[in-house]
Amino acid sequence: MTDADWGPDSARLAAFDEGEWARVEAAFAGRLLSYVSRRVADVEAREDIVQETFLGAVRGIESFDTAYSFEQYLFGICRNRTIDQLRRHEVRGRGGEEDSAAASLDLESLATDEQTPSRILRRTDLADRGRDLLAASLQEWVELTWASGEMTRLMVVEGLLRGGKRNRDLWEPLGLRDEVSVAGIKFRALKKIRELLLAKEGAEEIGASLDGLAVEADAPMDVQSVWRDRRVSCPSRRWIARWLDGSLEPGPSRFIAFHIEELGCEWCEANRDDLVGAREQGHGEALEAVQGSSIRWLRSRAR
Ligand SMILES: [Zn+2]
Repeated sequence: MTDADWGPDSARLAAFDEGEWARVEAAFAGRLLSYVSRRVADVEAREDIVQETFLGAVRGIESFDTAYSFEQYLFGICRNRTIDQLRRHEVRGRGGEEDSAAASLDLESLATDEQTPSRILRRTDLADRGRDLLAASLQEWVELTWASGEMTRLMVVEGLLRGGKRNRDLWEPLGLRDEVSVAGIKFRALKKIRELLLAKEGAEEIGASLDGLAVEADAPMDVQSVWRDRRVSCPSRRWIARWLDGSLEPGPSRFIAFHIEELGCEWCEANRDDLVGAREQGHGEALEAVQGSSIRWLRSRAR
């Protein structure tokens, strides 16, 4: 297996370097299959989706926005292909089969989610600049908090922003004294995030709109959607691997369990499934089948 945190060289990808694309397939096929397998029952369709994801990634590489990670880019395409597949299935299966009811439920939860691949591929608005700055500030705050070992603080903000939970839902499960403790943590966190944001060039405008955040009762949707879409709190695959093998300290372990098991981050879940041993779940053949799809396309293009 390749290094858990390996990321490709985007210049090589953009130059259609076959070796780099082969490494991408080797590194990412497992987690993509894990994601698709939880949502699509048909084994062949799963392979098709992963192949189409790699093809889509090669074709669209010139519009890949490096404000996102390559994994986010791939997962965005994969999600789109999965939705397409579930839609096709729904149309075919119309007539009341239980199977199609389950598929359309899945579809609903996928399609209404905040994150859409179009956001990753087309970002032209000025507002996107604001989102970039906000994402960078949130990311910075997560890193600072993680580094200082303040995992309860991180879990409070994660619960509010990713989980959409309220103060009163959080204090007890997180072992805090009462609701007021949650409110205090939130207040200080938003204040710090605002400071980090204002330290960035061109942030004055958004900074002003963040002024009211700390005193509002509910976390604002905008911060919430940036927090989720940009995956600012997603632990790296290396951390997930350490969590699984039990070599992680209790604090980070608790956070990762909260993030994946309690709040259901679908992409970290896909990484976990992959790391746990997707091969044992019958992915071996599927993995072989999808390897080489981008290379075949690159070669056909050269002719
Ligand atoms: Zn995650």
